[in-house]
Amino acid sequence: MLNSSLVILFGLIIGSFLNVVIHRLPLDQSIVRPASRCPSCGTGLKWFHNVPLLGYLLLRGKCASCKSPISWRYPLVEFLTAFLFWASFRDLPLGAFEVISQFRIWLFIALGVAITFIDLDHRIIPDELSLGGWAVGALTAYWDFRSGLVPLLAASVVGFGFFYLFALAYEKVTDRSGLGGGDIKFMGTIGVFLGFGGIWASIMISSIVGSLVGIAIAKLNRSEHALRTAIPYGPFLVLGALVELFFEVSRWISP
Ligand SMILES: [Zn+2]
Repeated sequence: MLNSSLVILFGLIIGSFLNVVIHRLPLDQSIVRPASRCPSCGTGLKWFHNVPLLGYLLLRGKCASCKSPISWRYPLVEFLTAFLFWASFRDLPLGAFEVISQFRIWLFIALGVAITFIDLDHRIIPDELSLGGWAVGALTAYWDFRSGLVPLLAASVVGFGFFYLFALAYEKVTDRSGLGGGDIKFMGTIGVFLGFGGIWASIMISSIVGSLVGIAIAKLNRSEHALRTAIPYGPFLVLGALVELFFEVSRWISP
C-alpha cells in the first residue's frame, strides 16, 4: 500500500517533469531553467502551483495573474504518467535485476508519454528521446528480467532495419515519404526495451489503429490528401508498445 502510494507520487512528479520536456525540448529550450511561467503573461508560477494535479485544481485551470486558461493537458500528462507507472509497478524484492528492470519500464513509459505529445504538437520525435532512450536502454539491457541483452539488442537492430527498409520501399513505390526518421529511430528504442514482441506489437497495432484513425479523420474532413501527411505516427507506435508491455500480446502468436 505504502509502495503503491510512493509509486503514484513518483509518477506524478515525473509527469510534471514530462510537461516541461514536452513543452521545451522541441523548442531547444533548457528543461532545467527558468522556472515555469504562464505562457500568456509570463508571470512565474508559485511553488505550490507546480504541485502535480493539485496546482491545476488550486488555480482552477487559470493563470493566477492574467486568468488565461491553462491547458488541461498538463494535469492529463501527470495523471497518465502516474497511472501507467502504478499499473506497471511490480512489488518485487529489491535486487539489482528487479530495480533496474522496473526503472527500465518506467523510463520507457516516460519516453512514450513525451514522444506522443511532442509528435502530436510538432510532428517530430526528438533524437534526445529516441536515440538517448536507446542508449540508456542498451546500457541497462543486461538487467532486464523479461528478456536478455542479446535478444534486446537484436530486436532493436531488426526493428530499426525493418522500418528503414520499409520507408525506403514506400518512398520508391509512392514517391512520398511516409515514415519519418524519428519513427525509424524510435523502433530501435522499442526493440531495446521490449524485444521482438515489442517490435511485432508496435508494427501490427500502429498500422491497424493508425489506418482506422486515418480513415475516420478523412471521413470527417472529406479530404484524403490533407491527411496523408497530417497524422503523426509516433503515438500509434507508443500505443502498440504499451499494449505489449501491459498485455504481452505477442505471446498470442508465438507457439
Ligand atoms: Zn498569465
